[in-house]
Amino acid sequence: MVTFIGTQEMQTHLKKVSVEDAIARLADMIKEDYLRWSQFDKCARVASHSDVGVIELMPISDGKQYSFKYVNGHPKNTQEGLLTVTAFGLLADVDTGYPKLLSELTLTTAIRTAATSVLAAKYMARPVSCSMALIGNGAQSEFQAIAFHCILGIQELRVYDVDPAATDKLINNLRAYPNLRIIRAASTAEAVKGADIITTVTADKTNALILLPEMISEGTHINAVGGDCPGKTELHGDILKNANVVVEYEPQSRIEGELQQMPADFAVTELWQILEGQIAGRHNEKQVTVFDSVGFALEDFSAMRYLEKYVVQKDTRILDLIPELLNPKDLFGMAVTPVAQQRSMAENVVSISA
Ligand code: NAD
Repeated sequence: MVTFIGTQEMQTHLKKVSVEDAIARLADMIKEDYLRWSQFDKCARVASHSDVGVIELMPISDGKQYSFKYVNGHPKNTQEGLLTVTAFGLLADVDTGYPKLLSELTLTTAIRTAATSVLAAKYMARPVSCSMALIGNGAQSEFQAIAFHCILGIQELRVYDVDPAATDKLINNLRAYPNLRIIRAASTAEAVKGADIITTVTADKTNALILLPEMISEGTHINAVGGDCPGKTELHGDILKNANVVVEYEPQSRIEGELQQMPADFAVTELWQILEGQIAGRHNEKQVTVFDSVGFALEDFSAMRYLEKYVVQKDTRILDLIPELLNPKDLFGMAVTPVAQQRSMAENVVSISA
């Protein structure tokens, strides 16, 4: 039997623990997993592109558990009343190959992305950081804002989106955080001017130029989240040239990240290296740092560990996804025998053997 976590279970859980608590707990679990990097069997995700979007599969295993996520990215979807990003995933036991947990991962992806962003920023942004510009005010934006406010101590948020209704929604949703000062900017340039941190989380299937080199002040940390597949970037390449760039998993980021704009020998650091203390996330106060985030399977593996630990309850829904057989070699018997008859046969077997 496979445990099932749907959107309902996640809503109930988030009401109970709060979004910021979920992000903080998951950030700890993501860090734990990045710190055992060498134990994971890793690969770049498998992508199927169309003119309007991408569908991706993201597998990973630590030898004991295996997970994959199905995720899409379709920036035009919101015009049709659909989400840009939806996801679900599965956690399985490596010993038997049996699936254990099938889960929604749309809400969970927003939480894990914010958790990863804030985890990287702890090691890369200047400790004095208190303002953040948030460019792109869609589905992911509240989670990013809450993570940086509640976990990193950001007090001032400058927000901008080409769609004013998206910014209205964000400001309205953040009313629950009265200590966060929100400034509505008239442009990206206005929002980012002098900001300690810039988060870009826009959706457009193009090589966009959301940030230009002249917009970036010394010492800024850029959390670049929206550019996450080939032909979809947010930063001018010259910003990367002069910055300390950290990625999740280099082979995947070379194809999908802001890094796709750079020559193959452009040096980057992987996130696990800065978490381990092997390499500094920032070398001085003046340096510009870029977390070139595309989302890596390890973060979803951690997320499914989180779901199993904190969301699964005794009465969580169960799916009969995998047959349960008295004789595992008699799959055919199950195919042709009515369920009621199987039950009475099972009872007979039990009473004979008793
Ligand atoms: P969304 O469609 O809900 O929101 C995107 C917002 O960006 C929209 O409100 C849109 O109006 C705005 N936008 C587009 N072009 C803009 C521009 N030039 N300037 C300012 N705003 C602009 O999408 P979402 O779910 O919030 O996802 C945002 C992006 O983040 C997507 O590209 C998605 O693929 C990516 N993403 C990355 C990760 C990761 O791990 N790195 C995880 C989840 C989503």
